Amino acid sequence: MSLSPSLEAAFNSQIHIEFDSVYAYLQLSADFKERNLDGFSSWMHLQSQEEWEHAMKFTEFLLSRGGTVRLQAIEAPLSGFATPVEAFERALAHEQRVSKSIHDLYARAMAESDFASLPLLQWFVNEQVEEEATVAGIVERLRMVGAEPTGLLFMDRELAARAGGGRGGS
Ligand code: MG
Repeated sequence: MSLSPSLEAAFNSQIHIEFDSVYAYLQLSADFKERNLDGFSSWMHLQSQEEWEHAMKFTEFLLSRGGTVRLQAIEAPLSGFATPVEAFERALAHEQRVSKSIHDLYARAMAESDFASLPLLQWFVNEQVEEEATVAGIVERLRMVGAEPTGLLFMDRELAARAGGGRGGS
């Protein structure tokens, strides 16, 4: 069973959102690097790579269902931040929007009885629960640390320990 035109469009929008995330995290990675917070930078870089993998998962799925991939223009992400907590609050708000978009996609697939899409979308629903929890945890700890440099440097070292494909700092 091939995808309906409306689901095909929705999957293409989701691919766009994932690439948008690639850019957002890449920018944050550069911003942290510029501030010599290499651990935060490396965490953001790995996050960006993970978003690339999400985009690929949706792309491959769309193709496997006989759909057409239509890549869209990516807007420039916000750059710079006053404090690390602001950067992670921005990341959290971003992940909440991504979750909403995936839930909308799931609801659309359900409404169209497109059962073949559901396992992939369920994987993403679960993934977003993890993403939001991880980022929310970092935001909370950054709030505790405040402007205290020792705490910030400690967290920078902690986030540096995140391994590729893993989720350090949670
Ligand atoms: Mg993603």
